[in-house]
Amino acid sequence: SSIPKIVILGAGYGGVLTSLRLQKELNYNEADVTLVNKHDYHYITTHLHMPAAGTDNPENARVNISKLIDEFKIDFVKSTVVQIRPQDRKVILEDGTLSYDYLVIGLGGEPETFGIPGLLENAMNIRSINSVRLIREHIEYQFARFKREPHRTDYLTFVVGGAGFTGIEFIGELSDRIPELCKQFDVDPSLVKIYNIEAAPTALPGFDPELVEYAMEVLRKKGVTFRIGTAIKECTPDGVIVGDGEEIRSQTVIWTGGIRGNRLIEEAGFETMRGRVKVDEFMRAPGHENIYILGDNSLVFNPEGRPYPPTAQIAMQAGVNCAHNLVASIRNQPLKGFAYSNKGTVASLGKGEAIGIAFGKKYKGRVAAWLKKAIDLRYLFIIGGIPLVLRKGKFL
Ligand code: FAD
Repeated sequence: SSIPKIVILGAGYGGVLTSLRLQKELNYNEADVTLVNKHDYHYITTHLHMPAAGTDNPENARVNISKLIDEFKIDFVKSTVVQIRPQDRKVILEDGTLSYDYLVIGLGGEPETFGIPGLLENAMNIRSINSVRLIREHIEYQFARFKREPHRTDYLTFVVGGAGFTGIEFIGELSDRIPELCKQFDVDPSLVKIYNIEAAPTALPGFDPELVEYAMEVLRKKGVTFRIGTAIKECTPDGVIVGDGEEIRSQTVIWTGGIRGNRLIEEAGFETMRGRVKVDEFMRAPGHENIYILGDNSLVFNPEGRPYPPTAQIAMQAGVNCAHNLVASIRNQPLKGFAYSNKGTVASLGKGEAIGIAFGKKYKGRVAAWLKKAIDLRYLFIIGGIPLVLRKGKFL
């Protein structure tokens, strides 16, 4: 009989953890494993707010896939998936076709714009190495432009749409970066404005209110203006229209207001909610015993029936569980249900400042910032061991 073929789509948190576990657990010739990813590197999404603001080098937010996986055990294919065809057990790539017996989908999310006009065309997103390099260069360029046209203060107005974790972490970094840019370009810091606009009645909805208040205070002191409970109605080439028609003129709008699943999943015919598949207890697509869906592409419900927010943490745990179940399926052993264990959440607010909840306790300030570093280093250790920690880790 032939060896079962496992195809993993996406080398994000879910796909990488599945691959690493499979290469450890599978015996020689027990399965044929192929990992497909658009780039030949994995990006550490949870770092991207730093290179986006220019407070860290984009190189520190990516790792070559060849450094992570054992290419004797897993075939890596650098390509873009263009179609998933469950009925034929095939995946169409931009430059070829793969057939599978088992499929793992971990293609990550796409920005959700909630139909706000102009957002897709005029706002930037923090979601990949390419997108953060663009944001970083764009921000610097606005300072350079302002020196040529000093009446254009809109060049120095930065709008961040969304006060979720990504938005808050990004403005933390941006407010650290602005003073440096002011010095570098001889710009009066009082001319620079950073707006964080959020439609919900609070920043970081669902998070501990005392920590949210602390975070907003830290960021206000660094020069951020919050517009909470204010919806962005439209994004234009000249800025944003908010609330009842007020215009905030800006050449830089960064949208962090929402993530949805992947278009390819909807197109494949799976039933989705905002591009995410409500998976079964084993993280499989309903009606497809051989298709696992992980991370931002899946919708996992907690025991109270509410969906967990999509995070790197849950994507990693899903990857580990998925690898276990793939091996079990191949060996005709019983599958293990997925049970998420939340280890805590920490959000950075820029240098030396953060808030978080971990081990059932609240943390803020320097201690929380250390905790954030420890979580980042732990991730590097999990995927690449000590060598990766030494190469990419930030200790200070
Ligand atoms: P991803 O990590 O998004 O990976 C998807 C992969 O698929 C990518 O490598 C992509 O290149 C590839 N891909 C996409 N489309 C194709 C295609 N068509 N063909 C081939 N390859 C493709 N979560 C936390 O738990 N803690 C945090 O502190 C945290 N901070 C964050 C900070 C920021 C700035 C951001 C943006 C997110 C943060 N998150 C955090 C959320 C977390 O990053 C995501 O939930 C997580 O990355 C989801 O993992 P994933 O495996 O589903 O997909």
